[in-house]
Amino acid sequence: MPMSKPAATNLRIDPERLWDDLMETAKIGGTPKGGICRLTLTDLDRQVRDWFKVAAESLGCTVTVDDMGAMFARCPGQRNDIAPIAMGSHLDTQPTGGKFDGALGVLAALEALRTLHRAGYETFAPIEVVNWTNEEGSRFTPAMIASGVFGGAFDRDWAQARTDRSGVSFGEALDGIGYRGPERCGEHPLSAFFEVHIEQGPRLEAGNKDIGVVTGVQAIRWYEATLIGQDSHAGTTPMQRRHDALLGASKLVQAVNAAAHRHPGAVGTVGLLEVKPGSPNVIPGEVFLTIDLRDPREDVLDRMAQEIAAEAEAIGAAHGLTVAVKNILAQPAVHFDPKCIASVRAAAATAGYSTMDLMSGAGHDAAYVSRVTPTTMIFVPCKDGISHNEAEYSSKEQCAAGAQVLLQAVLDYDRKLAEKLG
Ligand SMILES: [Zn+2]
Repeated sequence: MPMSKPAATNLRIDPERLWDDLMETAKIGGTPKGGICRLTLTDLDRQVRDWFKVAAESLGCTVTVDDMGAMFARCPGQRNDIAPIAMGSHLDTQPTGGKFDGALGVLAALEALRTLHRAGYETFAPIEVVNWTNEEGSRFTPAMIASGVFGGAFDRDWAQARTDRSGVSFGEALDGIGYRGPERCGEHPLSAFFEVHIEQGPRLEAGNKDIGVVTGVQAIRWYEATLIGQDSHAGTTPMQRRHDALLGASKLVQAVNAAAHRHPGAVGTVGLLEVKPGSPNVIPGEVFLTIDLRDPREDVLDRMAQEIAAEAEAIGAAHGLTVAVKNILAQPAVHFDPKCIASVRAAAATAGYSTMDLMSGAGHDAAYVSRVTPTTMIFVPCKDGISHNEAEYSSKEQCAAGAQVLLQAVLDYDRKLAEKLG
């Protein structure tokens, strides 16, 4: 029988137990510098999956696996005809990954479940912990491939045929570690999905806030620019007669930076530059470069793109260059579910944590899951905003705050479901 409901807000996760889980699983693929190298679908990934399965089953969960290797550990609720409220993240890492990116989201969820289990607290809806496959994208591209199939962004057969650098397909790698499950990816309804993650940026730490209430993921635009001038001799071509594509490109790099500075909150990056012919005594005749623009607001990205295009035209005219800028990717902003966000706010207030609203700068499994189920995320600060690095660090207290807010947000959402459907 369920225990009395008013006790729900008194439930406390155990910071030590969560920290022990983080440190114990960090040994699977642990690196000498204190990070983790646990690439997806390797034997190390199998070991941490096996650990997770045993831990979840010891709490009375049933673990199912879909055909993209995503794991779902379910604890029954009062009404098992209702889709579960899920929480989770990913257990794979970058080759020089840290101990917290991904692992915190799965292990905080496990700790939340353990807290319910120990208290004998029965939720209205079933509760699940999810481990998504290949979030990082460092062995198989693209990143977030399993949640992408789950959310309908990618085709399953296409995803399973993706190969790593040694030619092993995603499907073969799944079979290799025994984690190709019988359930078809995506055919697993959820009532909601909550993901705890380290911020991977400096804003919470700088603002001295405990919890990031994540309202969505910012929009991304990618452009390719080609500047064509004229190759000619570096010693004999007078300065006034040059059509220097690299000089134009350098001004375009400045223009991208200036456009981002004009719109506070936006970011703009030129991360790749190819210079032809690439010889010390030849004026560069052609440059190819990429532009990455991000902001939560589509209209700001439109304006930045217009400003950069106008600048590109002016640069072309000033230096006698042909400049072409082509848009190759426009990923719209993701806006998380208002009810899920409200549950996170209520949970943080109940626990007495300070909060800051954030749009995620990076992609996450939650972004794809949000296409098919009400979803949001909870961020905790990480030291100096560093991640995808062995030095990545969040304290025991910061991790515990994330898990506590996760637990209370799920319980808040569960109460709302009970009011609606009970
Ligand atoms: Zn991650």
